[in-house]
Amino acid sequence: MNLSVDRIAVPNPYFEGASNVYLVRTRSLNLLIDTGIGTPEALELLQRELAALHCPVHEISAILLTHKHMDHFGLARAVADASGARVYVHQDDWKDVAFYDERHDEISRLYLNAMQQWGLPPEMIAQMGSLRERFSELARSVPSAIALHDGDTLAFDSLPVRVVHTPGHTQGSACFLIEDRLFTGDHLLPTYTPNVGATDVTSGRMLQRFIDSLKKILALPNAAHLEICPGHGPSWRDPRPRIEKILKHHDERTQKILGILSDGKPYTAFEIAQKLFGTMREHHVLLGAGEVYAHLEELHADGRVERLPHHRFRSV
Ligand SMILES: [Zn+2]
Ligand SMILES: [Zn+2]
Repeated sequence: MNLSVDRIAVPNPYFEGASNVYLVRTRSLNLLIDTGIGTPEALELLQRELAALHCPVHEISAILLTHKHMDHFGLARAVADASGARVYVHQDDWKDVAFYDERHDEISRLYLNAMQQWGLPPEMIAQMGSLRERFSELARSVPSAIALHDGDTLAFDSLPVRVVHTPGHTQGSACFLIEDRLFTGDHLLPTYTPNVGATDVTSGRMLQRFIDSLKKILALPNAAHLEICPGHGPSWRDPRPRIEKILKHHDERTQKILGILSDGKPYTAFEIAQKLFGTMREHHVLLGAGEVYAHLEELHADGRVERLPHHRFRSV
């Protein structure tokens, strides 16, 4: 099928650089993959860039969301309202997209609980809590969103789009396979490994799921020939070397954590993160401690560390 794909990088002031929005077009279809963050500036930029591509916002026919983070789905409601486009997101992220506004307090409570489990000092927990308050402005609920499932094939104007559920970064992260392109959101990125552990506190054991999801990409037919279109940064062909590198990275991190624990003393995830990453600022405190905690969860499941009172872990 005659397909054209354009990438629009939508900057945001909070997270890792600009988020990619992809416009996928056939003769009669204008599909948007992700939307960018929900600020007025981002909406203005998206409208301008789409107009420059001769596809004004009101002509968007459908919106596919790779996951529930604000820098990816923030503008979904605005674009859907302007165009009547249907919005799709994986079942496991659906609730947090459909009821984003309504769930703000509940998610804040889950973060509070998680930060305590990660061993963050109280003054840092208070600081992080106020950081989260700002997030309520960066997206809006999309109550009409339609839930997707692993293996679904959506046929838009006879263009098949296959849904590949890749939990880890969030529980409902999904990649979209369109011909030889795989749109990966934050599951697979060109230069850094996405955070796992701190970016979705609605579920546990995310690291193992993330690793399984990377292997799932390797097992796709024709994996070597796929063009990866990530949620941040430029696209590239053949995901295999990058996936091998990320798997190795997590393996090494596990070894480093075991190295720190080898003195037999009890540590919180936060204390280990400080040893690994030094002084962390702003949301990097969350990312660092949450990721260490995700490793500790796996080590605990493997019987290699034990849980102690006061959110501490010790090597066994
Ligand atoms: Zn994300
Ligand atoms: Zn992202």
